[in-house]
Amino acid sequence: MDQIRDAILAGDTSAEEFASIEIPDTYRGITIHKDEQEIFAGVPSRDKDPRKTLHLDDVPLPELAAGEALVAVMASAINFNTVWSSIFEPVSTFGFLERYGRTHADAKRHDLPYHVLGSDLAGVVLRTGPGVNAWHPGDEVVAHCLSVELESPAGHNDTMMDPEQRIWGFETNFGGLAELAIVKSNQLMPKPAHLSWEEAASPGLVNSTAYRQLVSTNGGAMKQGDTVLIWGASGGLGAFATQYALNGGAIPVCVVSSPEKAEIVRSMGAELVIDRKAGGYKFWADETTQDPREWKRFGKDIRDLTGGEDIDIVFEHPGRETFGASVFVTRKGGKIVTCASTSGYMHEYDNRYLWMNLKRIIGSHFANYREAYEANRLIEKGMIHPTLSKAYALEDTGQAAYDVHRNLHQGKVGVLVLAPEEGLGVRDEAKRAKHINEINRFRDV
Ligand code: NAP
Repeated sequence: MDQIRDAILAGDTSAEEFASIEIPDTYRGITIHKDEQEIFAGVPSRDKDPRKTLHLDDVPLPELAAGEALVAVMASAINFNTVWSSIFEPVSTFGFLERYGRTHADAKRHDLPYHVLGSDLAGVVLRTGPGVNAWHPGDEVVAHCLSVELESPAGHNDTMMDPEQRIWGFETNFGGLAELAIVKSNQLMPKPAHLSWEEAASPGLVNSTAYRQLVSTNGGAMKQGDTVLIWGASGGLGAFATQYALNGGAIPVCVVSSPEKAEIVRSMGAELVIDRKAGGYKFWADETTQDPREWKRFGKDIRDLTGGEDIDIVFEHPGRETFGASVFVTRKGGKIVTCASTSGYMHEYDNRYLWMNLKRIIGSHFANYREAYEANRLIEKGMIHPTLSKAYALEDTGQAAYDVHRNLHQGKVGVLVLAPEEGLGVRDEAKRAKHINEINRFRDV
């Protein structure tokens, strides 16, 4: 692995040299183990500790199949799906691997007693499988996490609709929290040249998701002047939604949970900010009963900020805890676009507010290649910026996931894999200098 790392760090290794570099038979990766699936039985979600189940193992490198690329991973990032995988919630990911393994011979490779996790990477292509023409050894890349087979006509308008659509490193094996990763070549995108490895690795999953959920016509189709309520506005998804709202001429109403987080979103340019802790909203009077008076109080606080306007688009992901309020505060004809249910997936809302006011609930999930590519292009152009607050060593991935599980983090948490230290991999210093304040905004907050 040292030879691969050195070749990348040298910065001037040719494509031919990368193509002839020796590939090891095994590699180190962050895994969960199938025989530990029941380890947290009876433990409340919050107390399930990713540090207990995320292992750093040496695992065999599988054969590369047609349409795939083998990538040397310089850096990766923690996503909430790493947390879900590590606590085996809402289901164990080994069920995904078993089902995938039954679909065809190449997929069988994924059904193993261990699962190499990770849905983001920045690194360098080492090998490509048969049928890959667009990417070559030596290409510096990032990968989005949509894995599709595309053998069904159903996926050919929008690849998210492929019946065999999976999230790489969550519903498939050989993910990005490892020295080597296997991706489909249509997951690859150019690494933004002004970013370090860990900065480039961090936006992928959340940036693409926020783009589809808020900007794409498959999601919120946000337009100039829209008021956008953004839950967790300084978090993984939310900090990109905030940037998209500002970049697209909309008016974000950012919900956060501390003065520090409020300060971050203000520094990004958001003017309308609600601290939900300071507001003390109790949307649920108890575990089974919501309190519509609290929805109204929240709605009034929004109107006080917007000059009396209600919300055109709610960027939803907390789920059960907030969904009733989200439906209530949306304006007549507005949209609630949801991609998750962090606090619980059995939502409850008062449907009278929805149908009488012609509101729409839209489900959104990750992004198709085109959307992911557009989102990455905006990063490349310096119009949207990474939100990396901290980078951990691969050995400390458990702690990194723990931070995200406990909401102790800001923006994105990165993981250095083959990169020996932070700050390496920048190829365009002039562009970096131009955007350095935005790139560093989430650092050491
Ligand atoms: P994150 O970095 O933890 O950010 C989420 C933020 O939401 C938190 O920082 C918190 O911000 C806020 N929040 C959490 N619980 C809340 C609650 N009960 N009420 C109100 N606000 C709450 O996580 P993320 O990466 O943004 O992911 C968020 C969710 O989306 C996860 O469930 C994840 O699995 C899901 N997700 C889905 C997709 C998809 O494609 N479907 C893609 C990415 C993520 P404050 O404390 O500041 O309010």
